[in-house]
Amino acid sequence: MAQSRPADQAGLRRGNLALLVRTLREHGALSRAQLAVRSGLSKATVSSLVTDLEARGLVHDAGVSAGGQGRPGQLVDLRPDAVCGVGLDVHVGHAGALVTDLGGEVLFRRKAVIDVPNAGPERTLDVLADLATDAMTGLKNAIGVTVSVPGLVDTRAGTVTFSPRLRWRDVALADGLAARTDLPLDQIVVDNDANLGAMAELATMDVADLVYLTGDFGIGGGVVAGGRLIRGVGGFAGEIGHMAMDPLGPYCSCGRRGCWETQVGLGALLHACADPEDPIRDPALDLDQRMRMIRSRAEAHDRRTLDALHQIAIALGVGVSYLVNLLNPSVVVLGGYFAALPEWLVEPIRNQVVAYVLAPGAGGARVVGSRLGFTAATTGGALASLRRVLEDPTVVPVVQTQEEEAPA
Ligand SMILES: [Zn+2]
Repeated sequence: MAQSRPADQAGLRRGNLALLVRTLREHGALSRAQLAVRSGLSKATVSSLVTDLEARGLVHDAGVSAGGQGRPGQLVDLRPDAVCGVGLDVHVGHAGALVTDLGGEVLFRRKAVIDVPNAGPERTLDVLADLATDAMTGLKNAIGVTVSVPGLVDTRAGTVTFSPRLRWRDVALADGLAARTDLPLDQIVVDNDANLGAMAELATMDVADLVYLTGDFGIGGGVVAGGRLIRGVGGFAGEIGHMAMDPLGPYCSCGRRGCWETQVGLGALLHACADPEDPIRDPALDLDQRMRMIRSRAEAHDRRTLDALHQIAIALGVGVSYLVNLLNPSVVVLGGYFAALPEWLVEPIRNQVVAYVLAPGAGGARVVGSRLGFTAATTGGALASLRRVLEDPTVVPVVQTQEEEAPA
């Protein structure tokens, strides 16, 4: 039998380190013996791998196990603050940043108001670079940055292929950010907002099949099947906002007519619930402020607002039922502005889905409002950055000899 080459051995070791990190993340503190049982690796291998993870500051001693059947053992656990991931977000009306650590604690969150379609990519990149720099000031352990964009993204090249809402075509976002910051290019990832939002939602629930809708001026979809994100052959899957629901309908930002987002996007809601001079339609309004105004009108039983919400709910229900017939998910998560108005949207959508889906009981699909709301994409970006460590812990450099205490 041929001897394995050093490259193979290094790859194998990386895989085993990743396996231990994921096992600890799933189960919490374990002894080396328990880690060996759960991972299927030998005790000697586990000991050596744990020493490596300690040297990278990723794990630490966590006391002694209570015993139970086996001998009491020294427990090892992940250091929640060992590394953190940065998520950046480009939105029609703002750019945002969010930082979380391995334990899920949010360490930084900021939003900068910017009219992105009118500012253009260069000015937007300046704002993003400032946000990234502020987010990472004082962080020694940031592991990467993932930028969320509404539109078609070439994740390999780090470019935005086309975003109708931002009016961007072929924008080299990763290059532009690397040029403006100290970030190495290989630590910058660009991805679609709905994909990142879907993965953030997936992390909060115990399901493997999920459809996530962004719920913004544009409508994007993130589809997870069997625990994996569906990207499609070109990476452009999930553009459900541009399903042609009414070929003679109003013009869409993409230049076509009657796309679903012309019926259910935030623009459609604002158009239906208020005249152009109404303050609720002021383009300078912050999203949260806008949501509060719509909520308070709905709570005061304002007829026009309630009718507008009903109209949106019906159009949403029709599209969601197409998705449920096609994908049979466990759950459809309504994100963005939909999640800010669940009392008026969720129930009518559920009724539509039950009525239009062939499988009894909507095939078991639940329809729920997102708990992450407008922060799903940045949260997903930060998690995607952290996933680099879960896939390959050696991206974290060795910082100490094994006896030293890790820096705080
Ligand atoms: Zn369209």
